[in-house]
Amino acid sequence: MKVLIVFISIIIFASAVSADRLVRVRDITAGAVQQLLADGYDVANVDIRLGYADLMIPEREIDQLSLRFADYELLPREWGELLPVNAKNAGEYYSPEENWLFWCELAASYTDLVDTPVTIGQSYQSRDIYMIKMTSPVGSGYKPPIYFSSLIHAREPGGNSVLIDFAMWLTSNYDEGDTRAAWILDNTTVYFVPVANPDGYEYNMPGSGMQRKNMNWTDGNGVDLNRNWGYMWNYDDTGSSGNPYDETYRGTEAFSEPETQIQRDFITAIQPIAAMNYHTYGGWLIYPWGYINSPTPDQSTFEAWGAAMTSYNDYVPGRAGQLLYPVNGEQCDWCYGGNDMQGIFAFTPEVDDNGFWGSQNDPSEIERICDECRPMNIWLCMTAPGFVGIEEDEGVSIEPILSLSAVYPNPVVSSAVFTLTAPGSTGVKVTVYDTSGRVVYNVSEEFLSGDNTVIWNITDDVAAGVYILRATDSNGFAASRRFTVLKQAGI
Ligand SMILES: [Zn+2]
Repeated sequence: MKVLIVFISIIIFASAVSADRLVRVRDITAGAVQQLLADGYDVANVDIRLGYADLMIPEREIDQLSLRFADYELLPREWGELLPVNAKNAGEYYSPEENWLFWCELAASYTDLVDTPVTIGQSYQSRDIYMIKMTSPVGSGYKPPIYFSSLIHAREPGGNSVLIDFAMWLTSNYDEGDTRAAWILDNTTVYFVPVANPDGYEYNMPGSGMQRKNMNWTDGNGVDLNRNWGYMWNYDDTGSSGNPYDETYRGTEAFSEPETQIQRDFITAIQPIAAMNYHTYGGWLIYPWGYINSPTPDQSTFEAWGAAMTSYNDYVPGRAGQLLYPVNGEQCDWCYGGNDMQGIFAFTPEVDDNGFWGSQNDPSEIERICDECRPMNIWLCMTAPGFVGIEEDEGVSIEPILSLSAVYPNPVVSSAVFTLTAPGSTGVKVTVYDTSGRVVYNVSEEFLSGDNTVIWNITDDVAAGVYILRATDSNGFAASRRFTVLKQAGI
C-alpha cells in the first residue's frame, strides 16, 4: 500500500511539473501573430522573416493543435520548464539565492569597484528588489550612469546570466588592466538590477518554471510587468491585454505594481543615459517605439547603435513592431519617452537562448549567449557617455538653425573634430565645458553660413574625462554635444 501511495504521488508530481510545452507553429504571418495574441495564446517568440511563432501550450491541449495548425513541432521539454533535477537551483542558471550570493561576493572581492547590493524596494510578496552600483575610484564628478536589468519576466534567466557575466568581466578585466574595462569603470557608473521580478522567479524554482508575470494574483494569475509602465499604457489591445489571465495582462492602471514602481523610482533617481533591459529569447535587439511601429525622433541614432552592437553577434535590430509585434506599457518606451528626464537610450536585447530554460544543463550554451551579448554591453558603455543627441519628443519641432555634429573620434585622444552648421545665425560662440561647468576651451573662429569643420587639438593640460561642446547664437539658439577625452591610446 505504501509503495502504491508513493507511486501515485510521483505521477501527480510529474504531471504538475509538466503543465506546458513550447510548440513551434509555422507558416505564420504578422497578421496571424496578432490573431494568436487576440485569441489569448502565450506567444513566447516570433520570427516573421522565417515565418514561425513559438507558443506555450498547456499539455492537455497539445493533441488538439492539429485542428488549428497544419505545421507544428514540439520543442524540447527543457526549453519550457525547469527539469525536476534543477527545480530548486535553476541548473546552470543562477537561482534567486545564487544571484544574491554572487553579487554579495563580487562586492566583497572588489571593494574598490563594486558596492554591496542595496535594496531599492519590495515586491508584491515583500521580497527585496536590489541594485548593485559599480564604478572605480578614478575620476571625480559626474560619471554618466548606465542601467542594466534582467528578469522582469521571471522565466527568462538567460538575460540574468548575461548581466552576471558582464559584471565578472568588468571587475576581473579592470584588475588585469584591460583598457576597455578601465575606461568604462573610470568614466561611467554601471548599475545592475538583476532580479526585477523576484516573486515570479522564486515561484519558478520549485514550480514548472513558466511564470512570466508577477505574483499579484488578485484578479488573475499575475501582471505582465513589461506592459505596466506609464508611457502609452493601454494604448491598444494588440500589444497588451486587459484580461487578467493573459500573459500580457497590463494591470489595472499604469504602474499599478510595486515592481514597476520600484524600477521607475530608481531610474528616475539615477538618471541613466542608456539602458539594457534584458529578456529572452529570440536574437533581437529592440528599441523604441514599442507601442507603435513608427520611428522615434532619434531613429537614426537607435538604428546606428543597433547596427553597431549587433555587428558582434548577428542579432537583428529594430522596433518591436518590425520584428515581433507592437507592445504598449513597455519599459524602454517609458525610459526613452515617458519621463521628465532627458530621454534614455534604452534597448531590449532578446537573448538567443534555447527557449526559456533550454540551457539549464549546458554551461557551454550559457557561455555562448554571454559571449554573444558581452560586446554589446561594452560597446554601449563606451559609446553612450560621449553622446548627447536626444531630441525633444514628438510635437516639439526644433528648427535646425544651429547644429553640431557628433564629435569625432569619440573618445578623443589627441584631436576633436566636429562640424558646426549655423545658417542665418549671428554672434555664434562655441565653447567646451567640463562637467562642473568650467570653460575649458573657447573656439575663436569666424563661422560661415555653410558647414564649418572645427579641429580642437587637445593640449596636455586637458584632463581625461567627459566634456560638453556647446554652441550658442545671439538669438538664444543652442546646440550641445557630449564627448569624452581619453589620454591613453589603444581603445
Ligand atoms: Zn521578456
